[in-house]
Amino acid sequence: MIGHALKKFIRQLSLLFIFFFIISLIQINYNTIYPAINQKSDDLKRQIEICCTWGQKLADRILTYEINNAKPELTELVISALNYWEQNIRVIEFKEVGSKEQADIKISFRNDNGKVAGQTITNFDSEGFIFNAKILLAEKAFGKQLNKNLIEYIAKHEIGHALGLGHANFNDSLMSSLVYHSHNEISDCEREAFMEVNKWKLIENSLPKINKIKTYFC
Ligand SMILES: [Zn+2]
Repeated sequence: MIGHALKKFIRQLSLLFIFFFIISLIQINYNTIYPAINQKSDDLKRQIEICCTWGQKLADRILTYEINNAKPELTELVISALNYWEQNIRVIEFKEVGSKEQADIKISFRNDNGKVAGQTITNFDSEGFIFNAKILLAEKAFGKQLNKNLIEYIAKHEIGHALGLGHANFNDSLMSSLVYHSHNEISDCEREAFMEVNKWKLIENSLPKINKIKTYFC
C-alpha cells in the first residue's frame, strides 16, 4: 500500500520535474528597484541590451495577455501602456485572453509593499525562444504609494522586458535602468531593437530563428 503510494508520488514528482524542465530551461529576471540606485555612464554609444527572441508565438504578430489581481484603474493603466507600445512599434498587436487560455504575457499586481516596483520574468522553451513572460507590478513600494504616472511608466518599461529588451545605457530611454528619470517615450531605438531581435518575422517574414545579437546600437 505504502509502496504503491510512494510510486505514484514519485511518478507525479517526475512529471512535474519534466514539465518545469521543458518550459523553463532558462529564466531571466529583471527587477525595477524604486528608487533606482545604480548609475550608468552616458558617454558611451547609445545602445540597448537585447535579451531574447520570440518564436512561433509571434508568427501571427499577436501576443496575448491577461491582467490579474488589478483594480479597474490599474487595469486601465496597464492597457494604456500596452496600447502605447502597440501604437509606437506598429508591427505587432496585443490581444487579451481569458484565464483559461495560456497568455503569452501575464501581468499582475503584488500587494506585498516590497522593495520592487516592477519585475519581469521571462521563460524560454527548449529551443531558446521566449515561451512566456510574467510581469509583476506594484501599487506601493518601500511603504510609498506609487503615483499613476510612475506605475504606467514602470508598466511600459516592464513590457519592454517582456518583449525581449534589456536595459539602455542612456538615461532618456524608456529602458533606462534609472527609474527616477521616468523617460516615458518609446524612441526609434527601442522599436528598432525589437524589430532586429525578432527579425525572422518582422523583417524577413520567414521561420523562427534566434537572433544572437546582444546589443543594439541606436
Ligand atoms: Zn528594467
